[in-house]
Amino acid sequence: MQGAALTVRDLSASYGPVRALRSVSLDVPEGGVVTVLGGNGAGKSTLLRAISRTLAFHGGSATGTVQFDGKPVHAQGADRIVAQGICQVPEGRQVFARMTVEDNLRAGALGSRGDRGAKSAALRRVHELFPVLADRAHQRAGLLSGGEQQMLAVGRALMAEPKLLLLDEPSLGLAPMMATRIADTVREINSQGVSVLLVEQNAALALKLATTAYVLEVGEVTLSGDADELAASDEVRRRYLGVVDEDAAADASQAAAKHPVLARWEDVR
Ligand code: ATP
Repeated sequence: MQGAALTVRDLSASYGPVRALRSVSLDVPEGGVVTVLGGNGAGKSTLLRAISRTLAFHGGSATGTVQFDGKPVHAQGADRIVAQGICQVPEGRQVFARMTVEDNLRAGALGSRGDRGAKSAALRRVHELFPVLADRAHQRAGLLSGGEQQMLAVGRALMAEPKLLLLDEPSLGLAPMMATRIADTVREINSQGVSVLLVEQNAALALKLATTAYVLEVGEVTLSGDADELAASDEVRRRYLGVVDEDAAADASQAAAKHPVLARWEDVR
């Protein structure tokens, strides 16, 4: 597997009258991990759908350009996008619950560019990354735990031998230990040469994984830069990492001490 670069320019998207993205531009360098942070409804899933060309399945449409590996891909069908090496793991651990784990993985290889040998090699790599998927090969996917289903969703995408993996909130609803496990695996997948575009509400986890980060608010990129620098910025610390602004807290408590109504509010808190 060998990563490839993604260039998104002026991407706007809507669902009928609902504008979900406004003129978004971003880059994923070859072999890089880039994260897009944002709260509920910011447009993160829409961004991934527009890149993977699955937006129409959700009733949406997009304008703007997307280049992958130096070629424009924004006018291609979703199947061509997979064939060129872009695979999306949608939000919500979408596995085929009634099918076995093995059949879920086989389904992932349907759009693959590789021959039989390449598919067997891809399956071996998935089993090395997630041994539980080999142990449970003949079980129905719906019987796996939430974390195991997320592993299966990622494993299924890997069966198509992506150059770029689009991950939609892989930590959503997982216990912290399982979220860390998934993050470790994303790091491992990236070290094997796959570029990653990760959208997350879990900023702490995403900023540890990524080298570059973008913040999306109501469909627009409001901040972007080096992930370490963004993680240290007051704005991101306050809004996405839940860190209290110490100066603001000190000012508020001084004001409360001087003001009787605020002081009473301090008492009841
Ligand atoms: P979350 O973290 O909650 O999943 P998100 O950042 O992924 O949110 P999107 O799901 O991309 O955000 O939604 C962006 C906007 O588009 C929201 O206003 C949402 O209500 C709207 N939207 C998303 N999907 C559809 C759809 N299929 N039809 C109509 N509107 C939609």
